[in-house]
Amino acid sequence: MPQVSSVQSGTQYPVPEIAPHGSHLYFDSINEYRPEQGHYVEESVLVYLRLDDKSEKWIVDGSSIDGCALDTSNEDYPFNGDCTCENEEACTAALEHARKTRVPTGDELMHMLAEALGYTLTKKETI
Ligand SMILES: [Zn+2]
Repeated sequence: MPQVSSVQSGTQYPVPEIAPHGSHLYFDSINEYRPEQGHYVEESVLVYLRLDDKSEKWIVDGSSIDGCALDTSNEDYPFNGDCTCENEEACTAALEHARKTRVPTGDELMHMLAEALGYTLTKKETI
């Protein structure tokens, strides 16, 4: 069970764990981001879903797991407007680097989410 911290009364946020590579598994933009650890540059991606053949539930659309980078969900991203650093030049450089950094594929996103949420994945041999 993850540790939690409380910043606003009555609101608790999980404390991000540190991955083996020394980086946070994720940032909680409200209370865990530390400017001295780098610039806060955000991106978001789309995971396309569709109704299953019986129209009963959502399933992952094949376009989200075709091996290509996922589509970004906001044309204004990556975005560094929430970074609290005071080094505009370095922050702009970080944003430019982010613009050149490929967003994850569906498979890569699955691994990112699993790591952030503390899951271990096992792939079925039939797929
Ligand atoms: Zn910055």
